[in-house]
Amino acid sequence: MSAEKSIPILDLTRYDEVLKGDIAKGVAEVFASGRFVLGPANDAFEKAFASLLGARHAVGVSSGTDALLVALMALGIGPGDEVVTPAFTFFASAGVVARLGATPVFVDIDPATYNLDPKKLAQAITPRTKAIQPVDLYGQCADMEPIRAEARRHGVPILEDACQAVGASYRGKPAGTLGALGAFSFYPTKNLGAAGDAGAVVTDDDALAESVRLLRVHGGAKQYHHDRVGGNFRMDAVQAAVLSAKLPRLAGWNERRRAIAARYGELFASAERQGGLRLPVEAPGNRHVFHQYVVRVADRDAVRQRLAAKGIATAVFYPVPLNEQNCFAPLRQQGRCPEASKAASQVLALPVFPELTDAEVERVGQAVLEAIAKPLA
Ligand SMILES: *Cc1c(COP(=O)(O)O)cnc(C)c1O
Repeated sequence: MSAEKSIPILDLTRYDEVLKGDIAKGVAEVFASGRFVLGPANDAFEKAFASLLGARHAVGVSSGTDALLVALMALGIGPGDEVVTPAFTFFASAGVVARLGATPVFVDIDPATYNLDPKKLAQAITPRTKAIQPVDLYGQCADMEPIRAEARRHGVPILEDACQAVGASYRGKPAGTLGALGAFSFYPTKNLGAAGDAGAVVTDDDALAESVRLLRVHGGAKQYHHDRVGGNFRMDAVQAAVLSAKLPRLAGWNERRRAIAARYGELFASAERQGGLRLPVEAPGNRHVFHQYVVRVADRDAVRQRLAAKGIATAVFYPVPLNEQNCFAPLRQQGRCPEASKAASQVLALPVFPELTDAEVERVGQAVLEAIAKPLA
C-alpha cells in the first residue's frame, strides 16, 4: 500500500478563504435582515441567476426535485397525463411525475451522450402526452433541436431537467433555457451548490413564472387566500446568500472541470483506441460542464475495487435505470431500454471537481490505466 492520501470523488471542504469571507458576509446580512425565507436575499439571487442565463424569470425554490415538481404543476400535469423522460437519470426526474398521479414514459438513451435519444422519442408520444422532460445528464445538454421539433409537432411543452448542467450550453444557448421551463438543483454536490437544499425554475414565459411563484407559496397571491393547491417550495434566504456569493465563481469552476476532463482525455486516449474504456463524448454544439466525468469499462465493479484499493474513490450514476426500479414495476409493459441497462452496468464516475489538484488528476489517470483489464464488449 502506498502512503499517499486517498482521493475523494468530491471534497466539499476545500474552500478558499476569500469565498468563505464572501459567504460569511452574505449570511450575516440575512441575519441582520431577519428575513430567513425568500425576501431580499432570494430576490437578489433570482435576479443574478436569471441575468446569467439570459432568462426573463428565475424563481428560487426549495430543491431541484421541487423545481421539477412545481414546474409540472404549473403546466397542469395530473392524473391520466403522461410525461416523457429518459430511463437513465436521477430518480427525481420520474418521481415527480408519479407524485402528481401522472405516468412517466421512459425513452432509451443515446449510448454516446447518455441523454434521451431523439430518434426514440416519437414512439413514446401518445394523445395523453402532456410534456417532454429531457435531462442534461452529467453536465451536457440533451440534443434539443430534434426534441423541440417533436414537441412542436405535438404541441406539448418541454420541461428541461438542467439540475446537473448549470453553466452548460447547447448551440450557444444556456442549459435550462431550452424548453418552456428549466429546473436547476443547488444541492451541495452540484456544480453550483448551496449549503443545504435549494433549486430554481427558469422560464421566459410570464404566465408560467407567475404560476410557479404562486404554487411555491401554497397557491395564493394574498396570504391565507388560495386560488390553487400549491405547496411550500420556498428557498431559504441563507441558501440564496450562499448561492449569490458563489455565482461569480461558477464560470471559472466549470472551466477547471473542463480542463480536468481534457487531461483525462489525453491520458486515456490510447487505452480507448485499444478498446479498454470509452470516454465521455462532447456532442457537436455542446459545451459540457462535467458535473460528472463518466467512462465506460468492462467488469466495472472489479475496476472500482482495484481503484478503491489504491485509495481512489469512484461512483456509479446510476446502477439501475428508472424503468427497472421496483416502484415502477407496474410500468414494465412499456418495454425495455437496452442502452440504459447497458450503461448502468458499465458507467464509472471518476473524481472531477474544481479543487482537485493536477497531481491528483495524474494519479487517478495512472490508476485507471492500471485497473482496466478487459476490453469493452
Ligand atoms: C440532483 C438532481 C435532481 C434533484 O435535485 P435535488 O436538489 O437533489 O432535489 C433532479 N434531477 C437530476 C438529473 C439531478 O441530478
